[in-house]
Amino acid sequence: MRIIVTGGAGFIGSHVVEDLISNGHEVHVLDNFSTGSRSWIHPSAITHVGDIRRRAIVSLIQSLQPDVIVHLAAQADVKKSQEDPYDDLAVNASGTIRLLQACASIPKTHFIFASTSAVYGDQSHTTISESDSLHPSSCYGLSKWTAEQYIRLFSQQYELRTSILRFANVYGPRQTPKGEGGVIALFTDRILHNKPLLIHGDGEQTRDFIYVKDVSGAIQSVAAHHLYDTFNVSTGKSVSINELSLIYEQLSGRNIQRQRGMKRIGDIRHSCLSADKLQHQSSWRPSYPLHQGLALTWQYAAAVQSGQKSSI
Ligand code: NAD
Repeated sequence: MRIIVTGGAGFIGSHVVEDLISNGHEVHVLDNFSTGSRSWIHPSAITHVGDIRRRAIVSLIQSLQPDVIVHLAAQADVKKSQEDPYDDLAVNASGTIRLLQACASIPKTHFIFASTSAVYGDQSHTTISESDSLHPSSCYGLSKWTAEQYIRLFSQQYELRTSILRFANVYGPRQTPKGEGGVIALFTDRILHNKPLLIHGDGEQTRDFIYVKDVSGAIQSVAAHHLYDTFNVSTGKSVSINELSLIYEQLSGRNIQRQRGMKRIGDIRHSCLSADKLQHQSSWRPSYPLHQGLALTWQYAAAVQSGQKSSI
């Protein structure tokens, strides 16, 4: 298949591109390199430098006539979304509209959108499913939810084939300490540099961490099974930030100092998503337990730091 991956130079995108290429697909990356890196793009991918907010993107996509668009390009930093909500909305909602405009004239294209657990906001119950109501508590969650609404509207109006995937907190090699699920990248970086871990609030907030290769597998499964619906992509298990720091202490074999910081605006207290819907409709299952994913992430970062590995 011919597949466009927007944001293919980013953390998740670069893994998705790698996996699609190893499965024999023709992959086009569309990225403006605002946070992504050229060196992370698989050499067999065809790279198009461009901004999804620009009108020219519509004709580029129409000329490529892709079978699938995996739309990962985004402003994915919650803190930045609070500082500059205008720019966050422009990339996450208006940029998505540009891609939908392109899809409107190529209805065979399957449009797969990377949404987020942040659209749910704070929920009173422990495990969140796709039918739960949405109460984003950050500008980032709101801009992603807005994009979801446009996707639904365009799907109805133009009979598009669309999927919305709400990722839990994704982690793994190449993640930078910024971004949405960046706490593991941040911890990795600080442990490597023998700095104390900064824990916001009481550290009892919980997250559902999913390894990046499992997210890539879920995207491919949704494309292969032609699933045109909304799905959580998660492990269905949560861990507190305090527990996470203890696991990482064991794993790294270092004595870790901890510092307490203020609770951040827009921070969700508990986040655990049920992935039952996707598991019932496809053969996809998360296959990396937290300890294994963390060990791989740690090994990668340690190898990069010691110069045994380039940042690729
Ligand atoms: P990332 O910042 O590493 O990747 C985003 C990519 O998009 C980068 O390569 C960047 O250069 C590109 N990009 C940004 N703005 C662009 C624009 N205007 N035009 C073209 N390209 C642009 O982020 P990530 O963590 O890999 O996230 C990928 C997607 O997954 C995002 O949509 C994000 O919202 C979503 N998501 C991520 C997580 C997570 O934990 N990392 C969780 C839920 C959802």
